[in-house]
Amino acid sequence: MGQDAPRRIVVVGGGTAGWMAAAALVSVLPSQRVQVTLVESEAIGIIGVGEATLPHLRHFNETLGINEADFIKATSATLKLGIEFVNWARKGDSYVHPFGDFGTEIAGLPFHQAWTRMRAAGKARDIGAYSLPVRMCAANRFDRPAEDPADFASRFGYAYQFDATRYAPFLRQHAEARGATRIEGIVDTVHCDPETGDIERLDLKDGQEIEGDFFFDCTGFRGVLIEQALNVGYEDWSHWLPCNRAIALPSEKSGPTPPYTRATAHQAGWLWRIPLQHRTGNGHVYASDFIDDETARQTLLDNLEGAPLADPRPLRFTTGRRKQFWAHNCVSIGLAGGFLEPLESTSIHLTQIAITQFIELFPVDNDYTLERESYNAHMTREFERVRDFLILHYHATERTDSEFWNYVRTMPVPDSLTEKMALFRQTGRVGRYQQGLFLEPSWLAVYLGQRIVPQSWDGRLDTIPEESLGQSLTTIESQIDQAMSRMPDHDTWLANLAGVEAETRHG
Ligand SMILES: Cc1cc2nc3c(=O)[nH]c(=O)nc-3n(C[C@H](O)[C@H](O)[C@H](O)COP(=O)(O)OP(=O)(O)OC[C@H]3O[C@@H](n4cnc5c(N)ncnc54)[C@H](O)[C@@H]3O)c2cc1C
Repeated sequence: MGQDAPRRIVVVGGGTAGWMAAAALVSVLPSQRVQVTLVESEAIGIIGVGEATLPHLRHFNETLGINEADFIKATSATLKLGIEFVNWARKGDSYVHPFGDFGTEIAGLPFHQAWTRMRAAGKARDIGAYSLPVRMCAANRFDRPAEDPADFASRFGYAYQFDATRYAPFLRQHAEARGATRIEGIVDTVHCDPETGDIERLDLKDGQEIEGDFFFDCTGFRGVLIEQALNVGYEDWSHWLPCNRAIALPSEKSGPTPPYTRATAHQAGWLWRIPLQHRTGNGHVYASDFIDDETARQTLLDNLEGAPLADPRPLRFTTGRRKQFWAHNCVSIGLAGGFLEPLESTSIHLTQIAITQFIELFPVDNDYTLERESYNAHMTREFERVRDFLILHYHATERTDSEFWNYVRTMPVPDSLTEKMALFRQTGRVGRYQQGLFLEPSWLAVYLGQRIVPQSWDGRLDTIPEESLGQSLTTIESQIDQAMSRMPDHDTWLANLAGVEAETRHG
């Protein structure tokens, strides 16, 4: 593997992860540096769930040179401003984790400090009233954020809800047009160098042999290279995140398309509702130690808002991660690298981080020990931080109505999370991580939504008269009203997409 010859990268797996990786490699790296071959098997197929995303996917698509309107049309996507959580802290509760800030700084301090003081005085509304994307969700409005950072309407982000079976084929076209080669076949035998342990060659069932310098394992839960061949091991986090099964079921649309995903807590897990242009995606994620499959299936059927469009599809998973994401000359990406249950739509995002991180660390010579260590440390941190954030949703509950909720409410949680929760409860400060996906507004949304309210606020606010703080809150509400008055409803925005695109391109 010399520096002068292009590196032969073999991607095994053609699901969302495999084609995201192949498309990114050929779009971002010059053909003098990489030659990308992707092996996939139609006989095995893809998992085909994974419909809700995070705002960062927009950046991924942009980096690849993908036009947003083309993507939205090809994947029947809708826009997503956040996730509504129903029945999590208590039955009857509802809050939105939005992609955007709450309010604006008051007296140079985070908005929620003033809000906490005014709430204690009985003079503040629910925190969601001061968030533009939360209000947009409630009113079913959508528009792209304003480009001028001084405009209040610039203060949010958005993601997509899309048909998971359509993104990989869309990326395939993109990748093949830029030089990626696709091979149909099933990997049967993985040959490793007896001295180094590196993967040298893959033998397919039909007799084809594929050599490579570097291998991406994107084979989903199977982990054909990283686990079956390299045996790196799996760190199981089921004791903190006990949901281990899901049933997916699409249904007919009913009513206007909400610009958000809904996660409704149930007896031993939660139901997702993801609105797409042509149908609604539904599913029940549950813990098999606490509910049987038939009851879980019935719960899903009983809660559909439209007629089912297929038979319920059962799925099994173990929450956790590979002990090494990158071992020898093999990087595991997507479900092959690990899985954190889909409560915060993080899986495709973790795939995106894995790909970008690998490209940043792309080995320049044959000794890439340092790159590998750095990659594994980075991905471990990302996974652990998402894990803590997910645990928070379950652990910070007041529900006592089932064995499942009693378990998650009382279970010991990672120290990193215990400390963060205590800091917020006592001081209203959101402990920051140096890196990590979810930033202060996200933690804030979930803390408050799960009824963890700070016992105090920043003392500097006590020098400001209550009337003045009240005025600041009212101003924020009217700025939100003003911003929303210019926005169409979500369905109108989607219907006008072609027109909006033309304006954006010429504007
Ligand atoms: C219940 C559930 C809900 C989810 N919801 C979300 C969500 O809302 N948002 C989100 O971001 N993510 C979600 N995910 C995760 C998301 O589905 C995955 O991250 C995404 O689909 C990527 O999957 P993948 O490409 O890693 O694996 P797969 O789709 O399983 O693809 C594996 C590929 O490997 C190939 N393959 C396997 N073995 C071989 C072999 N021996 N030889 C050749 N090819 C082989 C297969 O043919 C296939 O092409 C969800 C997952 C589950 C289980």
